[in-house]
Amino acid sequence: MAIGTTSAGLSADEIVRLSREYTLFPWSAQAAVAPIAIDHAEGVYMYTPDGDRILDFNSQLMSVNIGHSDRRVIDAIAAQAAKLQFVQPGFVTEPRAVLGRKLVELMPGDIDKVFFTLGGAEANENAIKLARLATGRHKIGARYRSYHGATAGVMTLTGDPRRWANEPAMAGVFRIPDPHRWAEAEARPADEVLRETEQVIQMEGPNTIAALIVEPVVGTNGILIPPDGYLQGLRELCDRYGILLIADEVMTGFGRTGRWFAVDNWGVVPDILTLAKGLTSSYLPLGAVGIRRHIAEHFEKNVYYGGLTYNSHPVSCAAAIATLDVYEADGLIERSARLGSVLRGHHEVLRAKHPSVGAIRNIGLFGMVEVVRSRDPYTPITGYNGTSDEMKAIQRYCREHGLFTMYQWNGIHTNPPLTITEEQLADGFAIIDAALDISDQAIAG
Ligand code: PLP
Repeated sequence: MAIGTTSAGLSADEIVRLSREYTLFPWSAQAAVAPIAIDHAEGVYMYTPDGDRILDFNSQLMSVNIGHSDRRVIDAIAAQAAKLQFVQPGFVTEPRAVLGRKLVELMPGDIDKVFFTLGGAEANENAIKLARLATGRHKIGARYRSYHGATAGVMTLTGDPRRWANEPAMAGVFRIPDPHRWAEAEARPADEVLRETEQVIQMEGPNTIAALIVEPVVGTNGILIPPDGYLQGLRELCDRYGILLIADEVMTGFGRTGRWFAVDNWGVVPDILTLAKGLTSSYLPLGAVGIRRHIAEHFEKNVYYGGLTYNSHPVSCAAAIATLDVYEADGLIERSARLGSVLRGHHEVLRAKHPSVGAIRNIGLFGMVEVVRSRDPYTPITGYNGTSDEMKAIQRYCREHGLFTMYQWNGIHTNPPLTITEEQLADGFAIIDAALDISDQAIAG
């Protein structure tokens, strides 16, 4: 076991071999995984033990928003770890107090209390419990084109194929219509989707529905930006039927869409707002559930039946406070909005040049390029939940040319850290541009 006692000096090959032998990889048949060993990362770049540089065009999982190795956050983590590593959640600490107050200042409307978790799935698990307890109703409506986490309960809310193998799961979940249907380039008009949503509510029985949960801008299912009026209309429907609106901003929170929170783009205040990822820029695990005053008031007299050993973890809270300071000090939220138009320009160039580029979407630095077999009729290069040789070849090309991003079915994600420069953006798009020759050739042939 000598090799397992220290990682110092392990080669890239050894790191990969031991990781594959002793650890289980998510979302994969283990024989198929081919991970890259990373030694360290700085700004928008990761470096392998062999010194190869990889441009991070997806902020890891749309989460390292401030870029890698920001000294201010590292120092805050080290200082808190040296002072107080952990107390159970019945005690309170300065990081918990300060972070709670800061988040309430940032979150919209009268969202004025937070519950801390370890990550996004747990934030959504607690959002459901809070909604059910506060309303005394049990059903939750969610969309097909969504991802809300992989724990047993919220896996049921997740509408995409990652849910299938986990069923049957939590009872009481039903589907509401999606503005974007698969294999259509544009969203449907908001009023049409809202009419159908109201029908579903009526047919499910409004008095049985605790909440509707949506990603205000859908993340891994395709950076789906809702048509104007949709989120406002959902808010009105929820108000009309006494249903709570949960906005899952685990991915969209903290500047990704050019505003602190995606709902701010449409002036909508959800009853419950769930957060994680960018909250600490992923330097440490932390999630949060923000609740409006009327829900918080319910729990003044009624017990909240929920808890976690690591609720309000002091070191994670210290990391979050420092991260929020970085967003503010460096103007990263505004930067995301500004660079969003630069990113859109790159998307437009790709679309003008490559017949295999279909829909392009972005809001702030949250973007997606769809690869198609044909624009008319609109035919994604993969089937739903499918894969294709072309997408695999695009992925391989980018990897071999030092670009990391995410590929979901027929989409190439473009979600770099908010600190990226215009030159670095151009470098990344030059690699994607060259890779798209592969799909152009395939559809021409
Ligand atoms: N909700 C959304 C919108 C997400 O994108 C994710 C993760 O990608 C989650 C929830 C789950 O978060 P976690 O992986 O931290 O549990």
